Amino acid sequence: EPVLELRGIEKVYLRGEAGEVRVLDGAECRLTPGEMVALVAPSGAGKSTLLHIAGLLDTADAGTVAIGGTDYTTASDRRRTVARRRDVGFVYQFHHLLPEFSALENVVLPQLANGVPRAEARTRAEELLDRVGILPRATHRPAALSGGEQQRVAFCRALANAPRLLLADEPTGNLDPATSETVFDALTRLVRETGLAALIATHNLDLAARMDRVLVLREGRLVPQ
Ligand code: ADP
Ligand code: ADP
Repeated sequence: EPVLELRGIEKVYLRGEAGEVRVLDGAECRLTPGEMVALVAPSGAGKSTLLHIAGLLDTADAGTVAIGGTDYTTASDRRRTVARRRDVGFVYQFHHLLPEFSALENVVLPQLANGVPRAEARTRAEELLDRVGILPRATHRPAALSGGEQQRVAFCRALANAPRLLLADEPTGNLDPATSETVFDALTRLVRETGLAALIATHNLDLAARMDRVLVLREGRLVPQ
């Protein structure tokens, strides 16, 4: 069964004098477990809007959103929030790690919020940080880490609660090409080892080409490249 299934997604924004802007116009996709899919489009094409709808942060004007075979299109806010916290991990261009906490704590805290006992949460956090080569830096606060290290911690935090779906919005957008490669390799390892599905918006066509598939967002639709 697909991890994520979007069908006929439409989204219209009202923009004052400019009237309606139809950002998504029949967008569809289907992600299966273990798949890494690139989402490519120019700025302003609607990538963030699509990721927010897929991650149950925003609602579409039409179409359906299913995660793990469950349709959330008309679900209550409460059910959508529960599903988002359990099934979806987010990564952004800027890491949004909590500055007062260590890298380790940043990966532990979302698990505590989900009711995982501290010892178990710590073990899982250490495993995740180890897989991306950051364990030796685990006690440092984000400010003491490089940009690439911060993003690797952000991936670990996104995966802390073992989601089915990872949604990433320009996760290497703020990094130089060499660091982007390192961060992407770490992400690939995490996706391959956990079997989750990842939809990754990127402007980096070299990285996009290394994923399983590329979807181009064009005129509000997702077109296979
Ligand atoms: P991308 O992530 O591809 O840059 P976005 O999804 O952020 O694109 O935005 C797509 C278009 O929708 C842009 O033109 C943007 O200005 C517009 N937009 C995004 N959010 C809103 C909003 N809340 N209200 C009005 N327009 C919006
Ligand atoms: P929390 O458990 O911190 O309350 P939420 O359930 O509100 O988290 O959100 C889960 C994830 O969704 C967060 O990790 C965050 O990255 C993302 N998120 C929440 N709200 C927004 C938002 N308005 N814009 C972008 N991402 C958000």
